[in-house]
Amino acid sequence: MSKLKHGAAMAAFAIAALCSCGGNAGSDGAAQADVDSLATRADMTLVLDSIKVHWLKDNEGDKLMPPALFDAPDSLMSRLGLLEGVPSSVSAFLVECGGRRILFDTGNGAADSRLMAELDSLGLDGGDIDYVMLTHLHGDHIGGMLLDGDVVFDCAEVYVARQEYDGWRQMPDGKGARAMEVLGRYGERLHLFEYGDSLPCGVVALEASGHTPGHTAYRIGQLLVAGDLIHGVALQLSCPDYCASYDMDKVRAVRTRRAMMDYACDEGLTVVGMHFPPTLYVDCLMDE
Ligand SMILES: [Zn+2]
Repeated sequence: MSKLKHGAAMAAFAIAALCSCGGNAGSDGAAQADVDSLATRADMTLVLDSIKVHWLKDNEGDKLMPPALFDAPDSLMSRLGLLEGVPSSVSAFLVECGGRRILFDTGNGAADSRLMAELDSLGLDGGDIDYVMLTHLHGDHIGGMLLDGDVVFDCAEVYVARQEYDGWRQMPDGKGARAMEVLGRYGERLHLFEYGDSLPCGVVALEASGHTPGHTAYRIGQLLVAGDLIHGVALQLSCPDYCASYDMDKVRAVRTRRAMMDYACDEGLTVVGMHFPPTLYVDCLMDE
């Protein structure tokens, strides 16, 4: 059984969540993760072997997701202390590796978005990003790619799973139009890849579909960038069978969530997600 260790500005919510899933989460009784320890890792910057990870919090202030976003019963949400909301963020991650800079997702691109200010605080602007790798094409992940209609990352090569791109291109009722427009602005610098492909800097793209048609997790070294695989950590880390309403294919999303966390634990990876509460790095420990 895998072990999860949680870093960061941990609040009581997470500790409660780790202990309280009970029998409500799944039919096979295996929903609750085996969590045996907690650790603190509160820095916005994390060094993992030869890579440096910067947490770029895009939303202003604190963020709580409404409990109704999740299909978990009120009784469970109450027991987890989540009736007021699920601690969250909109985040992107900058990884420095071998002198190159990879930006994983780009936040909302809203008027109060902080992505560019966060980059600025590191002495960087859009032109300093070598690669943009997108977990999926929801607006809170690609919104920062254009600013006032202009391309922000004007030197970057952009990577998207072909399965994700095709899924949105074929979406009915014009639902994919905005995503196609944004990506189209990057012209020949847009690269569509297959799962398992090795991308620049040794990044490996892993299928994590369910949330969207071609949702992608990225592994670089011992880091797993999980995108929206886990939307509400305080609920879904210990009770992975519950979904956020944003998961387009819920059956697949549950299967993927379980499989990907098992993989992370088998490999001893550190996991970050775009809606984890700020600076919550999850260390997955290998079995002894
Ligand atoms: Zn999202």
